[in-house]
Amino acid sequence: MTSQRTSSQQVARPIDPDRDLIAQLGPSRAMVVMAHPDDCEFVVGGTVALLCSKGWEVDIVVATSGNKGTKDPAVTPQQLAGVREEEQRRASEILGANAPVFFGFGDGELVDDDELRGLVVRQIRLRRPELVLTFDGLQPVTNHRDHRRIGISTYDAIYPASDDLLYEPDQIGGERLSPHRPAAILFAGSAAPDYHVDIESVLQTKVRGLLAHTSQMGGRTEEGLLEMWRNRARQRREDSDGGDEAGPVFREDFRRQIFRR
Ligand SMILES: [Zn+2]
Repeated sequence: MTSQRTSSQQVARPIDPDRDLIAQLGPSRAMVVMAHPDDCEFVVGGTVALLCSKGWEVDIVVATSGNKGTKDPAVTPQQLAGVREEEQRRASEILGANAPVFFGFGDGELVDDDELRGLVVRQIRLRRPELVLTFDGLQPVTNHRDHRRIGISTYDAIYPASDDLLYEPDQIGGERLSPHRPAAILFAGSAAPDYHVDIESVLQTKVRGLLAHTSQMGGRTEEGLLEMWRNRARQRREDSDGGDEAGPVFREDFRRQIFRR
């Protein structure tokens, strides 16, 4: 049994579950681990833009290059991978994040194995995020197999592997990386969200990040997407009878997991 100890490089800061997580942790470093180019912008783009605007440094890791995401028979998977990686670079820049890292797996071919977990462990040890955002892979309703698998692999990378010396020992002995465990994970796409990020102030940035994925957006426009979000917000406001208990109307929802320090 491995204890949830504090690794030697970290300063132990107890997290109060009753106070806002992002406000307590930052500004610091965050890492987004997703399956496909555009996942980040769809599910956490507002949160990333908000973190960047508050002085956080954000890294985006993308496991596949989305090389099956087309209905055009004239496009090869290799061509599509190049286009989609470039779109993700542009989107990351718009959100204010660092240049994305690609693992280069095939779209629809992610496997929840030691290789994928080891690659995520390496990024965590290299970049040392306090906060990680990924898919909630621990529930069967998560809609795409790649999303479930990257969510599970990322969770397994964080606990226990990245903070224990004997997992991926070549990274420790050879590359001289140090163990690291983030303070918290925010799982997107969860059936049981318990943490909401108000993204109203950065909604336009999220939409522009999404629109950078030209090959996937089917001619949608900034005004069209903003209108969709406004309609969704109006519906939320009506459903909550104008009360505050339903949370912010422009928001991204997460299930939160905090690790003891
Ligand atoms: Zn996806």
